[in-house]
Parts: sequence; structure tokens; C-alpha cells
Amino acid sequence: MDPTTAFVIATLMMLLNGGILGLMHRDLPEGLRPAAFSWRLGTLLVAGGCILLAVQHALPPGFVLPVANALLMLGLTAYWRALRQFDGRPESLHVLWLALVGGVGIGWFSAIRPDLAARVMFASAVWVFLFVACARVLHRGGDAARSRRVLLGLFVFLALFMVLRGGYFAFAAGSVDDILDRRSWMNMATPLVAAILPVIGTTAFLLMCSERIRRQWEHAASTDALTGLANRRTLTRIGSERLDRAQARRQSFSLAVVDVDHFKSINDRYGHDVGDIALRHVADTLAASASPGTVPGRQGGEEFVVVFDADAERAQLEAERLRTAIRDARLRAGEHELQLTVSIGVTHVASTDRSLDDLLRRADQALYAAKAGGRDRVVAV
Ligand code: GH3
Ligand code: MG
Ligand code: MG
Repeated sequence: MDPTTAFVIATLMMLLNGGILGLMHRDLPEGLRPAAFSWRLGTLLVAGGCILLAVQHALPPGFVLPVANALLMLGLTAYWRALRQFDGRPESLHVLWLALVGGVGIGWFSAIRPDLAARVMFASAVWVFLFVACARVLHRGGDAARSRRVLLGLFVFLALFMVLRGGYFAFAAGSVDDILDRRSWMNMATPLVAAILPVIGTTAFLLMCSERIRRQWEHAASTDALTGLANRRTLTRIGSERLDRAQARRQSFSLAVVDVDHFKSINDRYGHDVGDIALRHVADTLAASASPGTVPGRQGGEEFVVVFDADAERAQLEAERLRTAIRDARLRAGEHELQLTVSIGVTHVASTDRSLDDLLRRADQALYAAKAGGRDRVVAV
């Protein structure tokens, strides 16, 4: 195989990949589509650049080389944009300058002052810059998904390869006619390496998308949509785990049921929307006031459950703190100012508890006593 054939095969693989990504586009959730579109655009631009490089002998070098290189650099810019969109970073048009300057620079070294070594070194420098920019976006991104790390590794590898390629042409350009000269191993390696990103990179990118979707589903299944607190399912899981741990290792474990007082009258007087705002307000106050190790969650309706890593006495003190925090945090909703209060029933694990339901039942009884005692209070059993 010669470099021209390698460029043609690499281009076909890229076009196939871009086409398949296009077919799958609608299967992706809307939030990921802009990033996937940019990634596909990058693949198609890189394919366009590669095919022009393959047929460069049939066209004037002063035209084909700057255009091919500008396409390749725009393609990498599109990959960079895709990664930024994936991480929700703001758009920036400044990067387009790099492809433009790249194209003009290549034009200079191919038409005005033809110099193979300078041209390849210049192109390699721009590529290294763009690869490092992509790697930086991936590195800064929050999630530690394996696919992200694989893609980061790919960009680092490609940056290193381009440094090597620049160095190779700095020393060996005298014995190489052009980048399609089959006598040079570097010329053979370049199209193969250029295909890595559109082919393997696309797989890693799609796995990043699927990992993102999996995490979003996991989050949706474990949190309460209205308040963002742990939902009943998560509370049951955490509570059961802590109960097992408490019984196996004699650790402390307490639990509270928190119910908003006269909540129905808030709905009746101000409407359901203000009721929802009030529930979010209570949830935010619980989350902000909870100490480390304490997990508040929404059990349903206007009822919350708080799981404490604490003995009976400390749990009761913390429940008191949560109660006063809610009473003291006044809520403004439009022109209304509301003061919410909660009643709390607290209980501590007992050796006879067989399941979380046993604790919940006791905490409910304590809550009932708090309501009967006049509300806005904590009762511990
Ligand atoms: P108490 O002090 O005895 O707890 O009285 P309460 O009015 O708080 O209790 P009740 O059980 O009579 O009413 C609870 C109300 O909570 C009834 C229901 O419409 C309302 N509610 C339940 N879930 C939601 C919700 O998601 N949003 C809103 N806005 N209201 C809800
Ligand atoms: Mg209530
Ligand atoms: Mg209730």
C-alpha cells in the first residue's frame, strides 16, 4: 500500500463513520444532539481534507494544500466544539481563527515560499495546539467515565505523534519529495493515525454519550423530581443499608419523619404552584442545615424522611435544629411571605427492629404525637 491508497481508505472509513453517526443521531437525547452533530461535522471535514490530500497531485498545490489543511483544522475545531458542547461550555468563535491562520500559513509555504519541512512543521504545530485544546476540555470535565479517559488518551497520543511528525520533517524532509512519497514510513503512518480519531475516537465519544445517558437515568430514578432530594426508593436503600450496618456493628442509626404543618391550607389559599415552591423551600432548608452523614429525602407529598448517623440524643438535637431552621427561613413567593413550620417524629434503632418499616412506623407514631401536641415540635420515641 502507498500513502495515497492509505488516505483513500482512511477517508472511506471516516465517511462511513460519519454516515453511521448521522443515522443514529435521532436516537440520542436532545441534550446530546448538538455535540454529536459537531462531532459528525468534524469527521466529515477531516474526511474532506484527507481526500484532497490524496488527490493533491491532480490539482494546483497553491490551492489544494491550503484548502485541504484548512478542512482538517476546521474538522479538529469541530471536535473541540463537540467536546465543549458535551460539557455544557459556552460557544466561542475565536477558535475559527486558528483554522484560518492555519490555511493561510499553509498557502504561504506551498504557493509563495514552497517549503515542505516548514509547511509540515507549521501544520503539525496547529494540530498539536488543537489536540491539546481537546485534551484539556476532556481533562477538566467533571465525570470520570472510562470512555472520557480513553478519548483523552487518544488526543494525547495524537499530539505526541504530531510532535514526532514535525520533528521528522525538520530532519528528513530533504530525502522526502512530499507527503505522498511512499519511501517515507512517516507518510504511510500519517493517514492511518489520522483515521484514529474519526474511527476509534467516534466509538469513545458515543460511549461517553451512553455513559452520560446512563447517569442521567440513574439520577432520575434516585432523586425526587420536584425537590432534587433523595426519593423514596433511595431513602429505602440508604435506610436499609444503615439498619443492617447498625445491627451488625452496633453503630448508631436514627431516623426522623418530617411533615409540613397545615400544608393543605397553603395550597388552598395560594394555589398549588406556591405549594410546590414551599415544598422546594423546605427541601432546600433541610439539605442546607443537615450535618455531614445526614441524608434528607422526600417520602412523598409534604412528608420528608431524614436519616441520621447519630444516636438518639444527637438525632433529637439535630431534628430540633432542622425544625427551627425551617421556621426561621421565611419564604417569599411573589407578593406572599410565608412562615412554614414542621412537626418531626424521631426514633432510634432498636435491637428488635427487623426492617426499616419498623423504624418508620415508630417515627410516624412520634410524628402523630407531635401533631397532637400542637405542631411545630419534635417528639422522640
Ligand atoms: P397537618 O398539619 O396535619 O400535616 O396538615 P396538612 O394540611 O399538612 O396535611 P394533609 O395531609 O391534610 O394535606 C397534605 C396536602 O399536601 C394535601 C395535598 O394536596 C398536598 N400535597 C401533596 N403533594 C403535593 C405536591 O407535590 N405539591 C403540592 N403543591 N401539594 C401537595
Ligand atoms: Mg402536613
Ligand atoms: Mg402529611
